[in-house]
Amino acid sequence: MRRVMQKMMSTMNWMVLALLAVTITAVAQQPASAPQNPQTVAATKPEPTAAQPSAAPSDQAQASLAPPTTMDQVVDRVITREKDLIKFLTPRTPIVETYLQNLTQDPQLGPIPQDDHYFLGRMDLSDSIDRSDYLQEKGKGEGEGMEKRLLGGITKRFKFQYQPLGFSWMIFADRNDFDRQHYNFHYARREFLGDVRCLVFDLTPKKDAGRGRFLGRIWVEDQDFSIVRLNGTYARAPRNNYYYHMDSWRLNLTPGYWVPAYIYSEEGDFTAGAKNKMWGYNLKTGTANDELTQIRVDSVKDDTPTAQDATPLAAEREWQQQAEDNVIERLQRAGLLAPEGDVDKILQTVVNNLEITNNIELPRPVRTRVLTTSPLETFSVGNTIVVSRGLIDVLPDEGSLAMVLSHELAHIVLGHNLGSQYAFNDRMLFSDEGTYQNLGFKHIPEEETAADKKAIEMLKASPYAQKLESAGLFIKALQTRAPQLSALLQAHLGNSITENGTVTRMAQLATSAPALDWNKLDQIAALPLGGRVKLNPWDDRVEIVKAQPVAITSARDKMPFEVTPFFPRLSRYNVAGTSAVTTAAAPNAAATTANANPTPKN
Ligand SMILES: [Zn+2]
Repeated sequence: MRRVMQKMMSTMNWMVLALLAVTITAVAQQPASAPQNPQTVAATKPEPTAAQPSAAPSDQAQASLAPPTTMDQVVDRVITREKDLIKFLTPRTPIVETYLQNLTQDPQLGPIPQDDHYFLGRMDLSDSIDRSDYLQEKGKGEGEGMEKRLLGGITKRFKFQYQPLGFSWMIFADRNDFDRQHYNFHYARREFLGDVRCLVFDLTPKKDAGRGRFLGRIWVEDQDFSIVRLNGTYARAPRNNYYYHMDSWRLNLTPGYWVPAYIYSEEGDFTAGAKNKMWGYNLKTGTANDELTQIRVDSVKDDTPTAQDATPLAAEREWQQQAEDNVIERLQRAGLLAPEGDVDKILQTVVNNLEITNNIELPRPVRTRVLTTSPLETFSVGNTIVVSRGLIDVLPDEGSLAMVLSHELAHIVLGHNLGSQYAFNDRMLFSDEGTYQNLGFKHIPEEETAADKKAIEMLKASPYAQKLESAGLFIKALQTRAPQLSALLQAHLGNSITENGTVTRMAQLATSAPALDWNKLDQIAALPLGGRVKLNPWDDRVEIVKAQPVAITSARDKMPFEVTPFFPRLSRYNVAGTSAVTTAAAPNAAATTANANPTPKN
């Protein structure tokens, strides 16, 4: 008896120690003000691989798996692969963006937006599926997340309960019970999705499988039998609840795994459409070890003569540069800024054109970067101009891009410097979800007016002087939609382009633009969302979509600022110098004993 007690005591001591160790790790990583960072949570969970990027299963494991010879064996492999994916994603906390438009019927244009909603969160895929939000509504307490508020009174405002967590469920068919006990698999046919040959199965839940089971079709690539697309809904909703229909796509962005990338969902007869986009899978989870290996030594030579101290002006510029670098680095680490890339080169070219023709010479070069999010916004910090992915998407041409960039360039030229407070590094210490509460680059109205005036002056002296009609048309199109798109037009870091449903930014350009004419098929005033910039969910890189333009045959095809389904062209991951990477089953993810029901918690 005593021995048992002793043993229990020592076990308890060990547990206390373990708890202490976990707490210390958490404190070391995190300022006390940000206890909610899911990165910390992920890093301290007893998951051995949490801190390291998981490697693809070994070639040996692969060799031991013979190709399946019957459809039953294929189904077994599909189930195993899905469990492997769930395990692979366990330590990851990707960002998920949900943008939803409620639609109304327009006799001429078909379904058009009636109002919209925007959610930005971070998923924690460790035990079940959980998420935390970047956005907080004004006047709401800190601890009160989006889900809680949706569960509390205001859901009546919406036609359905829009629960971001509900959308997040759609990345898997069934997080906990994807197996033969809960589902019937019916082989339908073979089909190509892009370059990838797939086997298509229809899935139906077994009779007593319970509520909220996946019902629909899955596409499985025919080498490793990973699911690459899911299309359907969840069956048997609880009373007074609805499930959206969803079309969920995965991309082979890392060897051996197809990671959830896009989910398009819709309810019924064009009454609502929602785009869900995931990215930031490879964002570092930020343990101390990780950060040591990440330290990058920039070999920029300091060529200031050694005897020379900084003049006050030089010191001021250094200071601003430091603030700028801090902000850019922090935004990228939070998954909100794409790494430097080809899209920046395009933006940079337009900025250069404006600078050269206006004889603008700045002590430091102007750089451009892309914000990874959809809301239409721009801001500048120091000499870096930041434009959102969503805004680049909807701009019809280079002239309108020049308009957008000229406003921020004007702020820089006029010396409307913002953000020098961020040269203090303590101001960079916040959780990723705290970004919008901790960073802000809003100008006062006087500076906004002055920037518009200067921007128009610069545009008129630039190669874009002849292209300002299209920029004006864009503003007109935006004006017709602005009252219905308040979520899309809500800036989170800079100034909004509109105020109370009226376009204010560069609005003068609309006066000289031709009339907006939906029936004029060659007049493209603004594009749908998602048509121009492609965001890589694995490494957050952005690139311009390479797509053949499709002829517009009616006013309904224009769809300015609208949400449309995704249809990515699938291809297999390709490492230069190695053959297409294939994988085999790793040991199954530990069976979760948690709630067996994938029901979005309504
Ligand atoms: Zn501005």
